[in-house]
Amino acid sequence: MGVHRCRMCAADSVINMRQHRLALCEVHFVEWVEKLSASFIKKHRMFEPDDRILVAVSGGKDSLSLWRILLKLGFQADGLYMDLGVDAGCSYSKNSCEYAEKFAQSIFPEAKLHVLDVAGIYGKTVPEMASRRKGGKKKFCSVCGLVKRHEMNRIARELGYTVIATGHNLDDEAAVLFGNVLHWEAEYLVRQSPVLPADGLGLVKRAKPLARFYERETAAYAIINNIEYMQEECPFSVGATSLRLKEVLNSMENGSPGTKLNFYFSFLRAKKNSLLLVRERPELRSCEKCGQATGAPGLCAFCRLLEPAGVHHSFS
Ligand code: AMP
Ligand code: ZN
Ligand code: ZN
Repeated sequence: MGVHRCRMCAADSVINMRQHRLALCEVHFVEWVEKLSASFIKKHRMFEPDDRILVAVSGGKDSLSLWRILLKLGFQADGLYMDLGVDAGCSYSKNSCEYAEKFAQSIFPEAKLHVLDVAGIYGKTVPEMASRRKGGKKKFCSVCGLVKRHEMNRIARELGYTVIATGHNLDDEAAVLFGNVLHWEAEYLVRQSPVLPADGLGLVKRAKPLARFYERETAAYAIINNIEYMQEECPFSVGATSLRLKEVLNSMENGSPGTKLNFYFSFLRAKKNSLLLVRERPELRSCEKCGQATGAPGLCAFCRLLEPAGVHHSFS
């Protein structure tokens, strides 16, 4: 292994990215991340300068890095931390919230962070909501995802944000893509995209500006910029399928650097070239209770989750 030097300034203390055949010093790495983010945002028409962006921040490296990048690029971006109440025996939500608050106070004091307390509003934590569904712990991740999507959309609408940004990285997106391909989930494949437009029925536009960065790149960006972040995984994610998919992709990546990026970008290209035909989605209507879009008659999946036990059993 030869000594790697920064391609821009020849410094010899570098972040070496075999997946891009590129080595950069810290200064040039940060510049590179921000420039690539700006061009990815532009290419996929994620935000305009007058957009009001709500960044969903979990306290982890991806979403805090994302928030910093958007502010550095000059966008109007406020944060939203959702306290899901995953605290029994671990203080996971409490600790994650502290990282989000610390970032907001110390790194960008002018940025606003909204904190949403799910149990305070609905009388139940997400683990309590999930425990009422058959499948218990295994179902936790789908209930948690449902609650997060519903609540970030509700807050964005209520507070007048025009687009929601999440910190999903390339490892996340490649794993989701891999899972969808394994099961040929055509509808999910059609919808998987770095940007989802508003649907005119109250679903706010959503964007994933970091979808082209490897997890180790967002981690390096956070560390170089002194962002302290939650390193523990959610206790419910242990054994989750997504982690196994990531392991398989990582072992392929190790043997052949660039595999993940190629897998994801080839998919986006194939979609652009109409390899996947867009099928009509089932007609959406407004939920009778909360007004958000749903394909189900009556109440949306989130509102059914909150119905008294025994009233509704099925979930779409
Ligand atoms: P995850 O689903 O945990 O992999 O997180 C994916 C993205 O969802 C993160 O990068 C955040 O943008 C967002 N997110 C996850 N958990 C929370 C949370 N508790 N509050 C706000 N945003 C979150
Ligand atoms: Zn350099
Ligand atoms: Zn509803």
